[in-house]
Amino acid sequence: MKIAIDKKLCNGNGLCVKACPVGAITLKNGQAVIDHEKCDLDGICIPACPNEAIALEDE
Ligand code: SF4
Repeated sequence: MKIAIDKKLCNGNGLCVKACPVGAITLKNGQAVIDHEKCDLDGICIPACPNEAIALEDE
């Protein structure tokens, strides 16, 4: 499993960046980017996104 960002839905508001307890999300060119090395798949960022741009997906 991995956390995936839907680029069509992400508007770069940065709410997931603040929500992630391990600092696994950064903004690049106005889009959230997940560092999969740091992400521990806790799912905290999923409800933090009002645009529903974040989901847990099969790899
Ligand atoms: S699932 Fe958890 S650790 Fe991974 S990016 Fe989201 S908030 Fe951070």
